[in-house]
Parts: sequence; structure tokens; C-alpha cells
Amino acid sequence: MISEITENLRHVRERMAAAAARSGRPADAVELIAVSKTHPAEVIRELTRAPHTLFGESKVQELLAKAPELPSSLRWHFIGHLQKNKIRRLLPWVEAVHSVDSLALATDLDRIAAEEGRRPDVYLQVNVAEDAAKFGFSPESVRRDLEALLALPRLNILGLMTIPALVEKPEQNRPAFAALRTLRDDLAAAAGVPLPGLSMGMSDDFDVAIEEGATSVRVGSAIFGRRRRVIQAEPD
Ligand SMILES: *Cc1c(COP(=O)(O)O)cnc(C)c1O
Repeated sequence: MISEITENLRHVRERMAAAAARSGRPADAVELIAVSKTHPAEVIRELTRAPHTLFGESKVQELLAKAPELPSSLRWHFIGHLQKNKIRRLLPWVEAVHSVDSLALATDLDRIAAEEGRRPDVYLQVNVAEDAAKFGFSPESVRRDLEALLALPRLNILGLMTIPALVEKPEQNRPAFAALRTLRDDLAAAAGVPLPGLSMGMSDDFDVAIEEGATSVRVGSAIFGRRRRVIQAEPD
């Protein structure tokens, strides 16, 4: 019997392939991060049988509670706001951090990655809508800090990430996705580096994000259903 989340995953992959085809890109040009926050390890394990191996979490203590219970073949990406005092514990578990939102955080991440022998993939989180309530570089600050960021030897800076505003219709986020791509193109040209990665698109709007060039989509509720209230706590 095929479980509901396995069925959801299949449907998400179909939507991804269709959006990639509309934008003239191969289906495997876009990576799917299954955002498993609030869902327990057993649910994640079920999805691994699909098979699916790449998961995203937005809280360090939640990731540290679940990841050790699951096969070591799973790949984890961190997508939430990262506090400096949690970097060292997080680093052994993740291959990428999508939410590097300041030069200060990047500098700490680089130093601790060197101490721990890690080379994480990194996306710079940019607040393209310039919503003051959110974390992230502004387009001007990422331009200003790019040279310093690219000089950090332990960070493999793949590109940019954004979380757009909550909107009624996915189409309303198209300008924000297009703005992130244009910013990426400008930064890459100015710095003479490729910056291939665009982490953008969530359950409601990943089709639009893929049409605008997303290389990584972060999809939670369209796969796992509604988020559960109770988040696994860190063991005492
Ligand atoms: C929760 C979360 C997602 C997934 O959101 P859905 O709307 O459930 O797909 C994506 N990105 C970030 C940064 C998140 O925190």
C-alpha cells in the first residue's frame, strides 16, 4: 500500500518536472528538499522508502534530536535562522546551510567549520522584498559584503536563498523570485564567480520558483501535510 506522504511526494515531483519542462530545463536540474520540521523520525523514515534522502530542518535542537535516529545515508540541509552558539553542534550533521543571513554569521561559520574540519555548502539569505521583520541580507548589503564572504575559505557559497512574503496567489511571488535571480546574475558577473544556486520556492509556489530558475526547492506541507504543533524537544 502506498502511503499518503509517498503519494504526495510523487505529486510534488510531477509538478516539479512539469515546471522544469515549461522553463526548458531537465527535471533533475532542481533539487527537492523535503522540509520535515515538526514531523517525527518515523514519518521521515517512511519517506526514505520512496526513496527520498534529502531533508530540511529549521531548528537545530529538532534536527539533533531526529537525525541520529535515522539512517546515516540521509542528507540534511539547515534552512532556519542559525544562532552562533549552535553552529558547532549543527555542523557535523548538515551538508548545507541555506540561511546565512549576515557577514558576522558567515565569519563564525567559517571559523568553526575550519576548527571542525568541515566545508559546508552555503546559500546567502536575501530579503528581496526588503521586509524589515525578516532575517537576511538586503540586496545592497549582500553586494557590499560579497567580496568578504567569498574570501571565507571554508564556505562553499553556492548562491542565494529567499523566503518571500505570504501571498494569496503563488503568481504574486514571481517578481521576488525573478529579483533573486537577477541579483544573483549581477553578483556573479561583478565577482566573476558562477553562484549557480537559487534556493527558492515552498509548497504553494515552487512551480513558479522553478520557472524563475530555482535550483533547490524547500517543500514541507505539500509532502507531509499540516505541521504538527508539538516539536520534539532536546533531551535533557
Ligand atoms: C517551513 C519552511 C519551508 C517549507 O514550507 P511549506 O510551506 O510547508 O512548504 C521552506 N523554507 C523554510 C525556510 C521554512 O522554514
